Amino acid sequence: MEITIHRGTHQIGGCVTEIESSKGTKIIIDIGENLPTEDGRKLPELNVEGLKEGKEDIDAVFVTHYHGDHIGLFNKISPKIPIYIGEISKQIYMMVAKKLASAGIIGEEDIERINKFIGYKIGEKIKINDIIVTPIEVDHSAFDAHMLLIECDGKKVLHTGDFRTHGQRGKAVIPALEIYVGKVDCLICEGTTLSREKETQITTEFEIQKEAKEIFEKNMYSFVICSSTNIDRIAAIHKGAIEAGRLFVCDEYQKEILMYIDTVSRSTYYKFKGKVLNYAENIKNLMKEKGFVMLVRPNYISKKVMREFKDSVFIYSQWKGYLSEKYKNDYEYLQSFVPRDYIYLHTSGHADFEAIKKICEAVKPQIIIPIHGEKPEEFNNMRT
Ligand SMILES: [Zn+2]
Ligand SMILES: [Zn+2]
Repeated sequence: MEITIHRGTHQIGGCVTEIESSKGTKIIIDIGENLPTEDGRKLPELNVEGLKEGKEDIDAVFVTHYHGDHIGLFNKISPKIPIYIGEISKQIYMMVAKKLASAGIIGEEDIERINKFIGYKIGEKIKINDIIVTPIEVDHSAFDAHMLLIECDGKKVLHTGDFRTHGQRGKAVIPALEIYVGKVDCLICEGTTLSREKETQITTEFEIQKEAKEIFEKNMYSFVICSSTNIDRIAAIHKGAIEAGRLFVCDEYQKEILMYIDTVSRSTYYKFKGKVLNYAENIKNLMKEKGFVMLVRPNYISKKVMREFKDSVFIYSQWKGYLSEKYKNDYEYLQSFVPRDYIYLHTSGHADFEAIKKICEAVKPQIIIPIHGEKPEEFNNMRT
């Protein structure tokens, strides 16, 4: 077995890993776009021969989850190569893609391509010639995110994708590894937080929910910005709003995603039906009277409602880096939307040092390959 990290040993996002068996079967894990870097340095372009049209010798691409830095380049590779992704992830990604297509950002051919993605389920063993891939559910800021266990030539490799253990499904991560994985030969592990500013005590999603509820109780009108596909965060905000007795309001696109999650999830935490209002002019009096929590994004409607409810608070619930001066070129639209006096309410979608350590203890790898981080050398501290 041969492992090649095409991109990702010294960058967050845009990671591309290739695994080749001794018989020549080749799979790629994640096919993401580069994220902007803090120091503005240019990251390497994706240059894998076997992924291109006419030269395809990659047998399959596996995507761990629907974040752009893991799936964003799907339309740059030959359509002959099958792309595997979680079944639920595929549907969520499709909803996002349709919104982008309606704004002219992506084309109809991209929608057709996503339609052809092959959905996988947790625990399902997918055979690509002599390589077997098993997806394991993990906790992350994307719903239906996975680690992938790759088995071939009598060896086991675990690719963590992006993960954490301080979210809603955090407690299930280690037991799932014990059931489906056991000891591995090689661990390809994300190290995002090791290269960012360290938090002494990581905030859990549950603490976010509690704090949100307190803010909503004190304030009649709250606007919240967070990613439309960070379902765990939206569920926390939603629960906080309901417990505080406020209406929960969002746009049609967001409601569609939440209604889909409601139908596919068995957990009561993700039950949104009957508790989500679609924003419309005719509910404004009700909003005034009852108080509300509204999910907003940088667009005309959100700006209009925010102007009408001046006596309100604004909660920023995603990575603060997007607001930093360093990312001005990439996120100016966002920076001009977020008011100066926002409340910051967020926790990372990535594993802290302790969580990474626990994974290592659970799968006892012979080799660790750090990816999705700018400081792979931080993994050396794991020994102490
Ligand atoms: Zn990522
Ligand atoms: Zn991610």
